[in-house]
Amino acid sequence: MSCDYTALAAPGVQGLQPYQPGKPIEELARELGLDPAGIVKLASNENPLGPSGKALAAMQAALPELCRYPDGNGFALKQKLAERFALGVDQITLGNGSNDVLELIARGFADRDSEIIYSQHAFAVYPLVTQAIGAHHVQVPAKNWGHDLPAMAAAVTERTRIIFIANPNNPTGTVVGQGALTGFLEQIPERVVVVLDEAYCEYMHGDDAADGIPLLARFPNLIVSRTFSKAWGLAGLRVGYGIANAQITNVLNRVRQPFNVDSLAQAAAVAVLDDADYLAEACRVNSAGLQQLNQGLEALGLEVIPSAANFVAVDVGRDAGPVYEGLLRRGVIVRPVAAYGMPRHLRISVGLEAENRQCLSALAAVLAEL
Ligand SMILES: *Cc1c(COP(=O)(O)O)cnc(C)c1O
Repeated sequence: MSCDYTALAAPGVQGLQPYQPGKPIEELARELGLDPAGIVKLASNENPLGPSGKALAAMQAALPELCRYPDGNGFALKQKLAERFALGVDQITLGNGSNDVLELIARGFADRDSEIIYSQHAFAVYPLVTQAIGAHHVQVPAKNWGHDLPAMAAAVTERTRIIFIANPNNPTGTVVGQGALTGFLEQIPERVVVVLDEAYCEYMHGDDAADGIPLLARFPNLIVSRTFSKAWGLAGLRVGYGIANAQITNVLNRVRQPFNVDSLAQAAAVAVLDDADYLAEACRVNSAGLQQLNQGLEALGLEVIPSAANFVAVDVGRDAGPVYEGLLRRGVIVRPVAAYGMPRHLRISVGLEAENRQCLSALAAVLAEL
């Protein structure tokens, strides 16, 4: 090989660090010779309930049509979402997971001359999609682990095209209140697209709940992204969506692959939206689990960042690497977040009651032995 293909990669891609997913159960089982059934994975903010029965039945029913291409327009799913949120079908972009939508936004609205703003400790996909298109990233220091909206507004320049805000944020679980968000949007020029990533919004209830949808009518530069991967329990299918005005939606659909959401994913997503009981149970189990983890971690003398999502970031009081490794040896997979600038924290996803318990007792044992 006489060519250095790494050096030939597009400029942004040369410095790109691939996304580090949570360790799969099967991989840990292979590495340590453990029984996969005994391993607890609380590393990827997945829904511990398993998928909805309604989603499974819809996929079963869709199987005979697998020889055909999916509906590239996602008619049934968009229709369903439009009804649910009282929006137009022309305001919805379907994605292969909401990560796909985030990438469509970067490709649709930014290039190498653009600046993209996001917060320190924010979701790792924002730097990834920014670098992949060679745009300039502007990372604004966090405040109390969360988004510092005034500082983010102050970072806008002539070259700013996109601002990403995760609400709640992953991996910190922090929330931006509706009032602060509205005040922020009022300050941002309309030519700058603001992305509200609401991957965990279904877990939130009451007055403090994050909800960008009512703001869409007032702020034409707003895009709200949501997903079926978390509370709706369909992470393996890869389906998410963006909501925005019809012009923005048209731009996103120009850069979208025509068949980016497969037919089983579309069928399952349509069906699960009718499964209100599933969502309610997911929220109930999550609230209880969040409380269990918070109490258990505090009982170990550890500091937890208050979370509104289905995970907690906990300061383990030392370099988290060895704690993560110790947990792996005990069959518990959590997520180290050093790559997010949080070397002393671990992110623990909320599991079922017994999984949370297993994680807490493994953590107590690991901390005692270190
Ligand atoms: C999990 C997550 C997503 C969703 O990713 P999908 O591609 O829809 O699975 C998006 N944003 C944040 C902040 C997340 O944590």
